[in-house]
Amino acid sequence: MRLSRFFLPILKENPREAEIVSHRLMLRAGMIRQQGQGSVSWLPLGKRVLDKVCAIIREEQDRSGAQEILMPTIQSADLWRESGRYDAYGKEMLRIKDRNDRDMLFGPTNEEMVTDIFRAYVKSYKDLPLNLYHIQWKYRDEIRPRFGVMRSREFLMKDAYSFDIDYDAARSAYNRMFIAYLRTFARMGLKAVPMRADTGPIGGDLSHEFIVLAETGESQVFCHKDYLEFAIPGEDTDFSDIEAMEKTVRHWTSLYAATDEMHDETAWNALPDDVKIDARGIEVGHIFHFGEKYSAPMGASVTGPDGKEHNVSMGSYGIGPSRLLGALIEANHDENGIIWPESVAPFDIALINMKAGDAECDAVCEKLYAAFTEKKRDVLYDDTDQRAGGKFATADLIGLPWQVIIGPRGVASGEVEVKHRRSGERFNVSLDRVVDEVL
Ligand code: ATP
Ligand code: MG
Ligand code: MG
Ligand code: MG
Repeated sequence: MRLSRFFLPILKENPREAEIVSHRLMLRAGMIRQQGQGSVSWLPLGKRVLDKVCAIIREEQDRSGAQEILMPTIQSADLWRESGRYDAYGKEMLRIKDRNDRDMLFGPTNEEMVTDIFRAYVKSYKDLPLNLYHIQWKYRDEIRPRFGVMRSREFLMKDAYSFDIDYDAARSAYNRMFIAYLRTFARMGLKAVPMRADTGPIGGDLSHEFIVLAETGESQVFCHKDYLEFAIPGEDTDFSDIEAMEKTVRHWTSLYAATDEMHDETAWNALPDDVKIDARGIEVGHIFHFGEKYSAPMGASVTGPDGKEHNVSMGSYGIGPSRLLGALIEANHDENGIIWPESVAPFDIALINMKAGDAECDAVCEKLYAAFTEKKRDVLYDDTDQRAGGKFATADLIGLPWQVIIGPRGVASGEVEVKHRRSGERFNVSLDRVVDEVL
């Protein structure tokens, strides 16, 4: 992509309305436009990162055995009356009427709808386990939308729903998602700690929030510091090995980690001070087992091996891809801008032409652009006539992992300068080596 053609509306000034660094940087780097209270438009740079984040989520959901579907954003109130949640949900639900005066709503989540899909088709235990997910916009009429994508009203969610014959099978489904989540966040370069979370009126011990530690986080959390160094399950994880899954989840829940609502002062005080992390955190994911909460009232049952009808045991599993962009920036920035982890960077390389219009510089840049593209590296080629300082500031602000800098002096000596955004390290490489060096 050529910067001269790329829609990248960079802001020079710090937007006054942005209270936290991720919101400020997303606005300044032209990733999003604030469209109103709690809603944003995704501009090309932001959309590219959002897509990368979703691609990782999708790969790990699929790997764990979940299957992608897509449900509508607008739902009928009748479905929610069946579960009893239409009245219970309160003001966070955006309620709408259609032209026939029917009660509709913009989905804040999809338990009812997916249960309706399930009950329409699945009749036998032989078709279980089943896990269906989608990545779809949600609307919650939050009292205080703020911090840009962190707490918005319209936001993207990956929500998965598991259906099993009994508690034990549902627990295995929970374990698979737990491990898929560990892998998902790790692949984005984030340390997300699973913490015991409130299960509400349903009870039980099967609910974890995945929390990224950050000063700007809205949750108060408490955890053992060793979690930050625990090894992440590998790509070769066998999701059909029920015992291995259980073992991994037990390991990952063996030390203290709890959100505010689940915090146990006595257990906490028994820990030595030097292992305690008492901090703020961002909830980037939440997994939850709720058994028959929806299957019983909505009649989602299957025939079991015993020939009897069983209400299915269910769980739901959310990740907020749009909130994740905020969390990623909170965790990866410096005073000059964003520092994208390679796996989610909008482009891999900023190719900076220091003297656009100079025949030799242009020729070298075009050649490198083609060579990197050939190697499947995504390049944002700064072919504009801005001055050098401005180009560097832009490259630092938008945070691509590598900067490859082409100027007349280097061209004459057959060398280019390379800057690694994260370490700040700079080095010279010969022109014919650079494509192999920056990989
Ligand atoms: P919070 O405690 O922050 O209000 P929640 O517990 O209400 O979140 P869940 O119902 O567990 O959210 O939804 C699953 C995921 O969706 C959350 O873990 C979060 O990543 C994301 N999410 C929820 N609400 C928002 C929001 N208002 N803006 C952006 N992402 C959100
Ligand atoms: Mg909420
Ligand atoms: Mg929450
Ligand atoms: Mg939650």
